[in-house]
Amino acid sequence: ATPTALLVGTGRGAQLGVLIKGPEVLEQTRTVDTVVLDKTGTVTQGRMALVDVLPADGERGDEVLRYAAAVEAHAEHPIGRAIAAAAGSDGGAPGPGSTPGLGIGAGDGGETARGADGVVIGSDQVLDFRAEAGSGVEGVVRTAHSGLGLARRVLVGTVGWLGAQGVATGAVADDVRAAEADGATAVVAAWDGRARGVLVLRDPVKPSSRDAVDELRALGLRPVLLTGDNEGAARATAREVFIDDVVARVRPEDKVATVRRLQGEGRRVAMVGDGVNDAAALAAADLGLAMGTGTDVAIEAADLTLVRGDLRSAAQAVRLSRATLRVIK
Ligand code: ADP
Ligand code: MG
Repeated sequence: ATPTALLVGTGRGAQLGVLIKGPEVLEQTRTVDTVVLDKTGTVTQGRMALVDVLPADGERGDEVLRYAAAVEAHAEHPIGRAIAAAAGSDGGAPGPGSTPGLGIGAGDGGETARGADGVVIGSDQVLDFRAEAGSGVEGVVRTAHSGLGLARRVLVGTVGWLGAQGVATGAVADDVRAAEADGATAVVAAWDGRARGVLVLRDPVKPSSRDAVDELRALGLRPVLLTGDNEGAARATAREVFIDDVVARVRPEDKVATVRRLQGEGRRVAMVGDGVNDAAALAAADLGLAMGTGTDVAIEAADLTLVRGDLRSAAQAVRLSRATLRVIK
């Protein structure tokens, strides 16, 4: 028999901003009891803002920002976009001094052009760009005025990752710790084997996230916050939306392990995410929900898409599935 009520259910879902892969998804939606929420871009806006640059002793803040931004301009992560935008090297080319409230010069920024042997950002050229998911980025930066042969291999990322690359991070350790304890995300810029400064970022919680978490809890789902970000930033976000269970500093490949661990405890797990690094966990979950504002990879891996990128639609999907399946039974 054609499950007409199920089809009606999926049609109604589209009206509510929820796209369902197939009618069978409604049954999965009805039975989940745990909801794992990715932090960046799911609970938070995913639009990080660079709020401070802390040069190490003997370094210059404008130089730290300039070299970091040259490399980060190639990154897809919200961290990269924020740093590049703050320096005016995101291709949109707001000039020097375009970062209100940051209080540092942004190098000589200026014109943007593309060369055949690499991308020119402002007047800086980046070669050999590489992004390591959940860790950072690196590239060789050659500034316009550095002359032939003077190029720096610049790394921007977590203290742990830089340390593993042989970078000395002692000079910035206190600043990183303080920023993280304050609930910020801190990444370190390094070249010539030494950390040169800390870039401090913040990512506000979406206005609807607190209500969404309340609604999910009222529906009997236990919320868990999951992130690759540091413990301090994770706790700060969790506090704002009243989530007690936090799993922080999770490597992209370990997000799926968190989902499986909860399943091993007998829980039926919904996972909500938006990033490339969430895709495996979305597929492994009993129900995968992707933010419509997120990456295509996440949307493809998910059973259900929250079209507007509003977490409250997840609660609506659960309510809809329960109402719809009541009609059939
Ligand atoms: P999330 O789960 O919050 O999206 P990710 O797994 O993407 O976190 O990243 C984890 C951490 O890796 C970030 O908090 C940051 O410290 C570091 N990182 C990731 N991408 C970058 C980047 N482009 N530049 C610097 N650091 C990065
Ligand atoms: Mg995310």
